[in-house]
Amino acid sequence: PQVIAVIPAAGIGSRMQAECPKQYLSVGGNTLIEHSILALLQSGRVSQVIVALSPHDTQFSQLPIARDPRIRVVEGGAERAESVMAGLDVAGDRGWVLVHDAARPCLHPDDLNNLLAITATSKVGGILAAPVRDTMKRGEPGVAAIAHTVDRQDLWHALTPQFFPLELLKICLRRALNEGAVVTDEASAMEYCGFHPMLIPARADNIKVTRPEDLALAEFYLTRLSQ
Ligand code: C5P
Repeated sequence: PQVIAVIPAAGIGSRMQAECPKQYLSVGGNTLIEHSILALLQSGRVSQVIVALSPHDTQFSQLPIARDPRIRVVEGGAERAESVMAGLDVAGDRGWVLVHDAARPCLHPDDLNNLLAITATSKVGGILAAPVRDTMKRGEPGVAAIAHTVDRQDLWHALTPQFFPLELLKICLRRALNEGAVVTDEASAMEYCGFHPMLIPARADNIKVTRPEDLALAEFYLTRLSQ
């Protein structure tokens, strides 16, 4: 069955030190957000992509992809979770929803397919995730000293897309936001409500372009993806 996607794209990307929000930086002739949207649409499983934009956004409507009938635009919020909520609010209550960062252009089709396949085994949903490779340290609060080493055995980087039953995610995200929980991804809202979404192992090259040097890395991964 077809699914809906929500793309939070209302951030200003302050860490990029760029002239424009990071999702509008170009790599290989397309902006990051176009790469991210196309990666979802190319699966053939996504019937609608709801893009949450800043009220001050002037760039999205100028992209060719903005004229695709599957694209719908909503006004995002001050935090990522509020932008996602605004998208979910117009998405209805049926089926499943993918949430994918605008700034994650290097999604591999195999990883997306693995994630979409979890509807067969899960009622709660799941996320793409990459195992942590480095040794992890917890610092003493406020001091540049190690408190202790964190066992990396069961540590994962949370990536996107994240994939949930639409109505369940709406309920959990609304509750988490209303109760002031820290929500940096959709899974945290599900966890806040007592659910345990699945971890789907995925390529670590599905990076979120955050700092200026990430752009060259994204270009490298995108070139490899297109070969
Ligand atoms: O800033 P960060 O890298 O965490 O942003 C992740 C994604 O969330 C980006 O695609 C960004 O545009 C989006 N976002 C949003 N609304 C906000 C802040 C971030 O849609 N208020």
